[in-house]
Amino acid sequence: MAQKPLSNIPPQDSGNLTASACGTTRISVLLPMPFAGPFDYRAPADMDLQPGDIVVAPLGKRQETGVVWDATSTLPADLAPPVTEKKVDASRLRPIVCRLDLPPLSAELRQFIDWVAAYTLTPPGMVLAMTLRLHMRAAPTPTMGWAMAEHPALETLRLTPARQKVLDLLADGNHRTTTDITNATGVSAGVVKGLANAGVLRPVSLGPERPFGQPDAHYNPPVLEGAQQSAAVALRQTVAENRFSVTLLEGVTGSGKTEIYLEAIAACLEQGKQALILLPEIALSAQWMERFSRRFGVQPAVWHSEIGQRARRLTWLGAADGSASVIVGARSALFLPFHHLGLIIVDEEHEALFKQEEGVIYNARDMAVVRGRLARFPVVVVSATPSLETLANVEAGRYRHLVLPTRHGGAELPETRVLDLRDHPPPRGLFLSPELVEDIGATLERREQVMLFLNRRGYAPLTLCRSCGHRMECPHCTAWLVEHRNRKVLSCHYCDHTEPMPPTCPQCGSEHSLTAIGPGIERITEEARQLFPDARVLVMSSDTLGGPAATAEAVAKISRRDVDLIIGTQIVAKGWHFPHLTLVGVVDADLGLGGADLRAGERTIQLLHQVAGRAGRASSPGRVILQSYAPEHPVMQALLSGDFDAFMQQEAAQRKPGFWPPYGRLAALIVSADTAVAADEAAAQLGRTAPYGEGIQVLGPAPAPLAVLRGRHRRRLLLRTHRNIAVQPILRRWLGMVNLARNAKVDVDIDPVSFL
Ligand code: ADP
Ligand code: ZN
Ligand code: ZN
Repeated sequence: MAQKPLSNIPPQDSGNLTASACGTTRISVLLPMPFAGPFDYRAPADMDLQPGDIVVAPLGKRQETGVVWDATSTLPADLAPPVTEKKVDASRLRPIVCRLDLPPLSAELRQFIDWVAAYTLTPPGMVLAMTLRLHMRAAPTPTMGWAMAEHPALETLRLTPARQKVLDLLADGNHRTTTDITNATGVSAGVVKGLANAGVLRPVSLGPERPFGQPDAHYNPPVLEGAQQSAAVALRQTVAENRFSVTLLEGVTGSGKTEIYLEAIAACLEQGKQALILLPEIALSAQWMERFSRRFGVQPAVWHSEIGQRARRLTWLGAADGSASVIVGARSALFLPFHHLGLIIVDEEHEALFKQEEGVIYNARDMAVVRGRLARFPVVVVSATPSLETLANVEAGRYRHLVLPTRHGGAELPETRVLDLRDHPPPRGLFLSPELVEDIGATLERREQVMLFLNRRGYAPLTLCRSCGHRMECPHCTAWLVEHRNRKVLSCHYCDHTEPMPPTCPQCGSEHSLTAIGPGIERITEEARQLFPDARVLVMSSDTLGGPAATAEAVAKISRRDVDLIIGTQIVAKGWHFPHLTLVGVVDADLGLGGADLRAGERTIQLLHQVAGRAGRASSPGRVILQSYAPEHPVMQALLSGDFDAFMQQEAAQRKPGFWPPYGRLAALIVSADTAVAADEAAAQLGRTAPYGEGIQVLGPAPAPLAVLRGRHRRRLLLRTHRNIAVQPILRRWLGMVNLARNAKVDVDIDPVSFL
């Protein structure tokens, strides 16, 4: 969608206050709830209200926080929902209760919220709810916190690992509450108290006013070389232009992309504006935070779902009053009420994690571009393996393109080999080919680190009865149960169903007949431990790493070389920098190529390239071994040759003729109901009323690959149009025509990423 020209947005509306003859002032207020639009209220005579003001309004018997909204829409015609004129009589309007003492939402943000709502076919209040995601009426929060003592008696301190964590955290000079400290480090409150008693921490009062350090653009600039230098100059210029543009910063892993976009942030700070960096998994970004403070002298403000209430409030206010000049966050940070945002960076722009799949279904990468366009500032999207959407925008001249062709400091890209498992099969019941095992052994002998990658949690993806063939399935989903041997359970990866491993086959009653089929990382870990009993093994998956603190600790261990063999799921593929890691083994390179996903090939190559990029990031060269049963597959061939461009050109050539994205538009309708019959009935109704016409096509209905999910029966339809036909008006008309049973529901997913 990022390509969509956002034409004809009229200049900002002057306001929405209309005084009527009898002296009441009608205002509309958007409440953060799934209503079709704003409601009308009366502004009491003594209350001077402007669009954007955050107010408390009566709703039934309750009072709700909402925002004074614009009376007229500023949306382009093809997005604007139809207007329904049904004005409540002025005499019946209820008065606003009060205005909250909070910075008002800017016209740009209000426009953005309306735009996202219209584009995703979501009630605008649901989008507003992403902006108002805190207790707006809460009193200012605790004011007692901790700082390092002026002269901490460190020599005499008994330094436990827990205490060290606290000291590391506070070393940046910021003041924090006990809760902030325990959240960030995972230590108990007792540890903090102990440090205070030992005179290492001193109590400080935390004024809520200026909790954020000011990043210093000139604190520690890097020395840039060749292509880095010219990319940085170009990006700085882009920021200095001070208008909307999108730039793709592309470069192989380790080429210095982060270093370069930090320069764009420096340029933005020099202009006195705020910058936002979106990362796909902010909770995993300890190394990133460190780099930021090395460059700018302080930590940035952080925004994601796991920061505490106090941090949430401070960051929100810091965004709104401009005192938080740099915010790094997950996709939801896009809806913060920035005071003067001047730049958004979307790092790893190809990541599917930028797509929110529940509630408001939106892609943060694309909506970042929309926000930049509406508020007229530059957006930079960053990747080693850009999405086809972004590449198509570059090709069409809509996006600028900066390329860093080589790794920093002469480090070479890893040498890749595809190991044909048909020629080099693992021993029966095992999953590592002897060739790979030999290579791991030799690498460990050289005291270098090895990483084994398998994107599957648990012990085995399928449990099968050898006597009767029964497969252990989730009772609520169309999915196999995954064995987690460490926890001795079978668990569904699509809902929260978990059950103990049954002692006998539930179908035929045979004993000892249930067999694990296929590997998950627990099983690979078991195999690796047997092969390399002396290696120090670290398992990295969401099961073993509880939160940001545990992840940071794991990463620190790897950097300190306290680990020889790392075994992990996609967590290990993130942008980590492990200088002593020289061999990466991909246990099942074919995983992810099956299935009906439009982007299966693209996804696989992006993920595997990212994993491979962990190897050989310093002076020793790295190697990557991909175990595959399909070495001739274009994905394997592209990983071998390193010719990502050629692969993407092939992808483009395959998608163009059928008008698949990005060469056409796509929307998915997911019909769900509590019975299969009801789901079929609803899907059939949508099928009968499906739109048609030149450049418009509806595929389906068909059972979704996850035909049952959490007990709901699911059917899918796809609406595909030529690029010049917007799907929103078509969908509005279509959905307006059907009359679904009460237990059936349709979810609309514009620009779908998941096809489950
Ligand atoms: P990418 O984001 O492209 O993977 P990074 O920005 O993480 O690359 O750079 C890889 C490594 O090289 C990092 O440790 C980074 O600090 C270092 N590096 C990159 N460019 C420079 C530079 N000009 N000077 C010093 N170190 C650099
Ligand atoms: Zn059986
Ligand atoms: Zn389930």
